[in-house]
Amino acid sequence: MLPYASLEDAASALGRNLTLAETLWYKYSADKSDYYLYCHNILFLFVVFSVVPLPMVFIECLRSNNFDKYKIQPKVRMSLSDMFRCYKDVMRMFFLIVGPLQLVSYPSIQLIGIRTGLPLPSGWEMFFQLLVYFLIEDYTNYWVHRFLHNKWGYEKIHRVHHEYSAPIGFAAPYAHWAEILILGIPSFLGPAMVPGHMITFWSWIALRQIEAIETHSGYDFPWSPTKYIPFYGGAEYHDYHHYVGGQSQSNFASVFTYCDFLYGTDKGYRYQKKLLSKMKEELRSGVWKDLPFVGVGATICNGSGAVVAAVFRHSTGFFSTNSRELLALRDGLLLALELGLKVKWVKCNASMGVAGLVVSDIRALCKVIIKLN
Ligand SMILES: [Zn+2]
Ligand SMILES: [Zn+2]
Repeated sequence: MLPYASLEDAASALGRNLTLAETLWYKYSADKSDYYLYCHNILFLFVVFSVVPLPMVFIECLRSNNFDKYKIQPKVRMSLSDMFRCYKDVMRMFFLIVGPLQLVSYPSIQLIGIRTGLPLPSGWEMFFQLLVYFLIEDYTNYWVHRFLHNKWGYEKIHRVHHEYSAPIGFAAPYAHWAEILILGIPSFLGPAMVPGHMITFWSWIALRQIEAIETHSGYDFPWSPTKYIPFYGGAEYHDYHHYVGGQSQSNFASVFTYCDFLYGTDKGYRYQKKLLSKMKEELRSGVWKDLPFVGVGATICNGSGAVVAAVFRHSTGFFSTNSRELLALRDGLLLALELGLKVKWVKCNASMGVAGLVVSDIRALCKVIIKLN
């Protein structure tokens, strides 16, 4: 509710004419209570949750080669009914938890001093406040998320969010009700520390959700504008965390990459990226083509250097396909890295008698996988 009887009143209180945005805000909000304005968030969240993931749903159903090359886990396909089930689950949680939480959390908004009046914040003021909110949320979320990966937190709460090992946009807010409540704290902390205007607060809540939907989209588009944001994690970064699943000790951060770098929780991710790019480079350059029978694999060694398992692909079919074979190899690599085992990269020639050793070790790796499941 604005404390001015008319636009002229507001202009004389400000000592200048109102900008176009301020005039529009005055006309919209003058006779509305602050509580009513705050509750707009429920509508915005509903629209964001329902509409923003839709282009990805369309792309997933289209199954066009043009988009498939950007899919992070091309082996995993979601049907329309799978995606709709996820949306229904998210909506149930929205009406039972997220919406009511918004309704009852208004006193905290009053307490921290989110304002609804004039003047409106400048573009720069909004930008810097939103940046602070993202940084605070990212840092706090990192530690809460990392904590949720302990045995108790994972089993009781966080396991639900990890049901999607290949996430989709709708799965961004898919979580246990307790996780939604707990992760509400990092979201409120920024506005509590640097309170701003209601419009900034609305923008914050909407942008944070849009960012989460993008990082769960399952597609990594090189033209995404977020590629220009320094230290931004993005879809591929968070997808790795879901892909590895419950044992994951990597990529906990929600927005940026610096926390995982500083606290050393991106080592497995960076190492497998390095290995994969080396492998792709070697495939592209064709260095193996002249060898009579070439296998490629990763042996997994324990602390004393003994081989405990290996992943191996021999030449049959290997060179004819690309990403799927690479992904099959990646499965083993990720598992080993996340278990903290040393991975040794090998190219081996069957005529040297290496293949027998490596193939027998595949069974050892299978045993590890079965044990973990
Ligand atoms: Zn997690
Ligand atoms: Zn996630």
